[in-house]
Amino acid sequence: MSGEVELDRIEDAFHRTPRCAVHAEREARRVPCARCGSYACEECFGAASETLCVACRQRVGESLAWERDDGGGVFARLWATTVQMLPAPFTAFEGIRVGKGLWSAIQFAVIENVVSYAVPMLLCAPCTFFALSFAPADPDLPRGVLGAAMCGLLAAIPFVVAAFALLGALFTGLLYHLAASVAGGTGELVESLRAALFLQVLAPISAFTWMLGRIPILGIVVTLVGFAGTLVWQTFALAGHARGAHRIADSRGWLVAAVPALATLALVGALMVGVVALVVGMGLDLETPD
Ligand SMILES: [Zn+2]
Ligand SMILES: [Zn+2]
Repeated sequence: MSGEVELDRIEDAFHRTPRCAVHAEREARRVPCARCGSYACEECFGAASETLCVACRQRVGESLAWERDDGGGVFARLWATTVQMLPAPFTAFEGIRVGKGLWSAIQFAVIENVVSYAVPMLLCAPCTFFALSFAPADPDLPRGVLGAAMCGLLAAIPFVVAAFALLGALFTGLLYHLAASVAGGTGELVESLRAALFLQVLAPISAFTWMLGRIPILGIVVTLVGFAGTLVWQTFALAGHARGAHRIADSRGWLVAAVPALATLALVGALMVGVVALVVGMGLDLETPD
């Protein structure tokens, strides 16, 4: 406080009041932006507790609807972020920075997945119970118990999906950060992990393809197209992030962005070869688990 008083005294002595860098006609807050040092008016700071100017808030990632204080409740911000990021992966991810940190991104990934997969579960529930009513009566396993078990399973699936999404994001984020570091990226690990977590904005699409994937034959096509589409979208998003956060542009940026997708393809390929080898080795018939 004494520093501010001292500043006031000197500025008054010179009859000079700082002006907002954006709005030259307005008086600025005495203490400038904590990041870039430019003076800003109270409207530009947005809140009394805010220490960054508008431009810096955008640079550190709070251009993201999820992390905006005035963005409304959880579901409003979730929806706004989904609508904001899905159609424009490159530009949306170019703006993600440290923002509100890792925890905020983890929350986003979990809630986006739970909400997205709860919808198909709610749609599945009536069919499941309808099918259950045709199950032969078994005195050892009353329908009530069976129904409760199915109910618990349906309710658990969105949370299991969210847990796997976090593991996947950790895999993608670490790999992406490694590739970016090798390519001379300047961003922090937390930024790479946040980018990988915000890739989960695809969860509504994944849940929808997962639902369509239940359709016989057509489901296989939908699943493959969905898988390929996800990897392409992810590469666009990470290329934008590599440019914004790691300062890696052009072909090197695209190469870095493609590393997690290529690794996923290799992993899925190896897994499929492994499963086939195991099944052939055990002399069993290959049957789809569905
Ligand atoms: Zn600033
Ligand atoms: Zn201003």
